[in-house]
Amino acid sequence: MLSSRFKSAASPWRAMAAEMIRRLGSRVSVSAFSTSYSRATSYSIIADFRSDTLTQPTDEMFTIMRNASRGDDVYEEDDAVRALEAHVATLTGHEAGLFCASGTMTNQLAFRASLLTPPASILCDSRSHVYRYEAGGLASHSNATVYPVQAITNRGHHLTVQDLEREFVTDDGDVHMAPTRLISLENTLNGTVMPLQDVQAIRQFSQERNVRLHLDGARIWNATVAQGCDLKDFTSQFDSVSLCVSKGIGAPIGSVLVGDKDLIKKSRHFRKMFGGGWRQAGGLAAVVHWCIDHVWPTMKKTHALTKQLAEGLEREARGAKIYIPAETNMVFLDLAGSGIRLGELSSRLELEKGIKIGNRYTLENQTQVRLVLHWQITKQAVDGFIEVVKDMALKAASRPNDVPHTATSKSAVYGIPKRFS
Ligand SMILES: *Cc1c(COP(=O)(O)O)cnc(C)c1O
Repeated sequence: MLSSRFKSAASPWRAMAAEMIRRLGSRVSVSAFSTSYSRATSYSIIADFRSDTLTQPTDEMFTIMRNASRGDDVYEEDDAVRALEAHVATLTGHEAGLFCASGTMTNQLAFRASLLTPPASILCDSRSHVYRYEAGGLASHSNATVYPVQAITNRGHHLTVQDLEREFVTDDGDVHMAPTRLISLENTLNGTVMPLQDVQAIRQFSQERNVRLHLDGARIWNATVAQGCDLKDFTSQFDSVSLCVSKGIGAPIGSVLVGDKDLIKKSRHFRKMFGGGWRQAGGLAAVVHWCIDHVWPTMKKTHALTKQLAEGLEREARGAKIYIPAETNMVFLDLAGSGIRLGELSSRLELEKGIKIGNRYTLENQTQVRLVLHWQITKQAVDGFIEVVKDMALKAASRPNDVPHTATSKSAVYGIPKRFS
């Protein structure tokens, strides 16, 4: 009885280890697992085009974590966290910063600290992350509603003052409405850049209307590199900015919120209330600092590779379309009309080149896929990708009747592609 119990206690472990190995695939050798807490000792970075969140921390990053300060951040006693917050505040032209676990948290904290009394509403692009992909957090945390705005004047490229004017709710005593208290912009949005002059115009508009202006700058790093301007040029236009560091910057975890001292003080309080106060976070902060200094400068190269991929795909897969301009690190590819099936492309890329694209949400019955580049994507991976597409396009051309696709979306303006982070 006892021994059989022990046996069944051991088998879930074995099953778990097998499942971990299955999930990690070729990245981890079986021998990497020794006792219950083991780490990957040998891994190779798979060319993962699914998201720029999928960069892997390097050995060098673990060395930095090991050497970092080990104070308690809830006590505000960790040197690396305080240094990072001050550094990002300086880079962005703001008074103070708050290092948090995720971009969703830094967006939600900014809203919660800015929108103190209902009824209130915010205006944002109808495709924006804060509206679509934050699990309805704005309604739940801040008791606010969203009036989503269509980017009509630029045929979907980015919002303008004219678009915002259309939806703006003046606080004129109409009891049916939730007055606009905040405008939230996203830059980049689907990899496209809202130019600085349009940001400046919206800044002026928000000041005239006396509403706050927030930037979901998950990828503002990329926008800045693409525009060739200073980070501050963009970020100083806003009352609050959320900057993800787990994407283009390549850090394992985190996002920084910047704003004035009062906003950051309130956000720190709400962060604790949300359960996001963290203790010895110095290792993470130190890595972020290193990544800003070392990974950010490689972004220009990543953007050049992105352009190479977009051009290569359009050239080789005749009939395929890049349906959102590849201005930074993303390529939105529609294979409809090319005769290439997305599912087949995905498996060939993985099998032949170790390249991953799409995910379980996007691949089935779809012709469109978002490809995201980051600092660990190499030129060989991009070349290999184009090679596979070229081969598939040649085969597709030799069987012209086998074209199963209709476009998922034929909208003249940029539609709402599926993407989550
Ligand atoms: C990724 C992302 C966020 C935040 O995502 P987390 O996964 O919570 O860090 C916010 N806005 C945009 C535009 C994003 O891409």
